[in-house]
Amino acid sequence: MPSSLTAAERAALVRQLESRRRTLRAELTAKLSAQDNPALIGLRNRMEETDDWAVADLETALDVAEVSRDAGELREVEAAFARVADGTYGECVDCGKNIPHARLVANPSAARCIPCQERAEAAQRRGPPTL
Ligand SMILES: [Zn+2]
Repeated sequence: MPSSLTAAERAALVRQLESRRRTLRAELTAKLSAQDNPALIGLRNRMEETDDWAVADLETALDVAEVSRDAGELREVEAAFARVADGTYGECVDCGKNIPHARLVANPSAARCIPCQERAEAAQRRGPPTL
């Protein structure tokens, strides 16, 4: 189904995606380079020396969770650019219906309409389908 977005609406959403991609790339670069930051390494070493493993583990876990959240969002943004390139941007990847413009404004990298997104999230919570 051809997208109902006007050229101007699409261009504005692409600009939003571009600025989100810039921000995410900068954040990821900063976070990844922070892993080699001598101050952070010193802090981690000190925690290990004082046997405070729980805190060190927690910090490492938090770093990884934050980085993987950004990486996941960047992946969604890149996937949205791929849909812009192949002309399917604004269509639900599951049912092919147009994603409402308001939803795209709120989340320009949205890949699904709301009912399909809710179904996908419910399926994720249940685990892989058993059929
Ligand atoms: Zn759908």
